[in-house]
Amino acid sequence: MTSPAYIGRFAPTPSGYLHFGSLVAALASYLDAKACGGTWLLRMEDIDPPREVPGAQTAILQTLESYGFEWDGELVRQSDRHNAYESLVQRLFQQGLAYACTCSRKQLEAYQGVYPGLCRNAGHDPQGAAIRLRVPELEYHFTDRVQGDYRQHLGRDVGDFVIRRRDGLYAYQLAVVLDDAWQGITDIVRGADLLDSTPRQLYLQELLGLPQPRYLHVPLIIQPDGHKLGKSYRSPPLESHEAAQLLLRALRALGQTVVPELEAGTPSEILAWGARHWDATRIPQTLTLAESQLR
Ligand code: GLU
Ligand code: ZN
Repeated sequence: MTSPAYIGRFAPTPSGYLHFGSLVAALASYLDAKACGGTWLLRMEDIDPPREVPGAQTAILQTLESYGFEWDGELVRQSDRHNAYESLVQRLFQQGLAYACTCSRKQLEAYQGVYPGLCRNAGHDPQGAAIRLRVPELEYHFTDRVQGDYRQHLGRDVGDFVIRRRDGLYAYQLAVVLDDAWQGITDIVRGADLLDSTPRQLYLQELLGLPQPRYLHVPLIIQPDGHKLGKSYRSPPLESHEAAQLLLRALRALGQTVVPELEAGTPSEILAWGARHWDATRIPQTLTLAESQLR
């Protein structure tokens, strides 16, 4: 039997610096890959220049390096992939699988995030309009390695979703699915804030005939002020002099046993030890974790 070797990835968005929540996600994806001798790729998800914080890309790379992470191969930037995204949007539009939407944010306010299909059959010109993908009236489900069974009805809970914004920028859902397949990713390990994006991604994979990776969603870290450390949270960069201490705290967040000898380890030693002792079944099956409980 031939199964593809493990290929994992970490895919930060430079809308801010890495924070403790991103460290937990990076560490989990790194250790899950390294524990089985797999490949760990790094992809910069820089498809939203207006939300990008100047200097964040460099800071993210420096933080990963000072925390001992070594990625395989060349860093991939989504900003270099516009042609691939555009030709897919064109194809989906021409096939009638996607359509132009001219609804304003205000018009959609009342629908609480579920697009009601107002422009479905309007035949709007795609110029200057958002492009939405039609979703089937079906429930999509998958078994997450930590969170277990997850299901979502795309028609009822999400509605037709945006794949290219009105301002011409490509949507995360489209880019992530295309790039994960293009890079041959077999295992996606990321924060639980993306659990409810996964069914949309499963639908896109199915539609495009792409393989479905395995999924593992790690708990989202909640700060003492109640703030969730997800994708859009802006926080000061992780300090390099705190690398060892924060790596140990992240290991604890992931339910891994930390032996006292490790307290004196360097970041690289902690990562190597973490990979040798990695046990993904110990990751807490919860969507959020309070950072205050990990100190
Ligand atoms: N770029 C996303 C983030 O920073 C992660 C995407 C993913 O792992 O699928 O939250
Ligand atoms: Zn519309």
